[in-house]
Amino acid sequence: PAAHSPSSDAAADPASQLAAASAEYERLAAAGLSLDITRGKPSAAQLDLSDGLLSCVDGESFRAADGTDTRNYGGAAGLRELREIFAPLLQAPVDQLLAQGNSSLTLMKDALTFALLHGRPDSPAPWAAEAVRTGAPPRFLCPVPGYDRHFGLAEALGFELVPVSADAEGPDPEQVAALTAEDPSIKGIWLVPVHSNPTGVSISPARARTLLALETAAPDFTVMWDNAYALHHLREPHPEPVDVLALAAEAGRPDRVLTFASTSKITHAGAGVAFFAASPAMTDWFLTHTGAGSIGPDKVNQLRHARFFGSSEGVLAHMRRHAALLAPKFAAVDAVFSRVLGPEDLAAWTNPGGGYFITLAVSPGTASRVVKLAGEAGVKLTPAGATHPYGLDPDDAIIRVAPSMPPLEEVETAAEVVAACVRLATLEARASGV
Ligand code: PMP
Repeated sequence: PAAHSPSSDAAADPASQLAAASAEYERLAAAGLSLDITRGKPSAAQLDLSDGLLSCVDGESFRAADGTDTRNYGGAAGLRELREIFAPLLQAPVDQLLAQGNSSLTLMKDALTFALLHGRPDSPAPWAAEAVRTGAPPRFLCPVPGYDRHFGLAEALGFELVPVSADAEGPDPEQVAALTAEDPSIKGIWLVPVHSNPTGVSISPARARTLLALETAAPDFTVMWDNAYALHHLREPHPEPVDVLALAAEAGRPDRVLTFASTSKITHAGAGVAFFAASPAMTDWFLTHTGAGSIGPDKVNQLRHARFFGSSEGVLAHMRRHAALLAPKFAAVDAVFSRVLGPEDLAAWTNPGGGYFITLAVSPGTASRVVKLAGEAGVKLTPAGATHPYGLDPDDAIIRVAPSMPPLEEVETAAEVVAACVRLATLEARASGV
């Protein structure tokens, strides 16, 4: 437990509050810690939950239920029995759901690359050719705070990143409407619809409908619906899934949305299965271009996953075991922040119902200082700004906390250090009149 008592400090004058915060920070920093809460990786205990994968297919049992020899080439859409298990979980008709390699981020990279090089079926020209003709790069909307790898991928492919704000229901529809109405170079928007990285927000059906129905200057405007945390609930009740493919069809724009998911945070993060789902036309488009570069995905791994889960209910039961390991870590961070930061309103933070992240909003201008102080005390945090396009948070206020990987006691200690850093940085800023 922290040595200081915020409530008694609160009564003290600012100079002695600052001195107490500094002393508390020095005490924690002297412990020689080496903790990392930067990335949302599953813990070893979570990975252990799926070790049955490593032995459920062997030299006698490599045939799928339909007789397919999973060791051979072929089956570009992925193993049907696995797609049948995940189709209801991802609200996708099985014929429009592809099971592919181990990374959904790779599928997102592929989809954007295909659009750049070949265009979508509804594109006037390939996006890259259009950019050459107009002399303006294609642009992508980035709800903030958001996922740094989305932003990094779009940037690496040559998109200009355009931040848009988001609220408790999803991206701000007025901003998105204003930006997309006139500018055909705005080609799409990133979206993490459930337990978003890092805010934990789940999109409301009404907001999803609005985004799907928008009149956009680009006829091929694309919603990148990254359902990475579709099943990753920390408590009940959880958000009702949005059947986005049905909503897009109802809105008269069935091809607008491309959806992605994976088992990275369900089974083994580096050796799972990624999924793509879209309208029949866009699924064909994706598969046609994928087919140029692959003779088929790793069906042995897909069979392992199908066997290991057995059914959709098997996946849900497995996710409850993850929640049992993760929820205490999120609760620990919330308890420490509430105790140290709550009484004086030194910061705001989320208490998400799922996903892998807590968003900590500190006083404007202090996030980088907090990350630096924590690093010097042996607690690695994601760099301040990582949640914004180009790594630039104009307010320097948002920090992403990822409590999943370290053991519970370490998460508690790391939260203690982060809270002490926030307290110190806030009081320093107040003292210097910033
Ligand atoms: N999307 C989001 C929103 C994520 O948070 C992550 C992992 N941190 C990924 C995608 C990566 O998914 P995959 O492992 O399937 O590439």
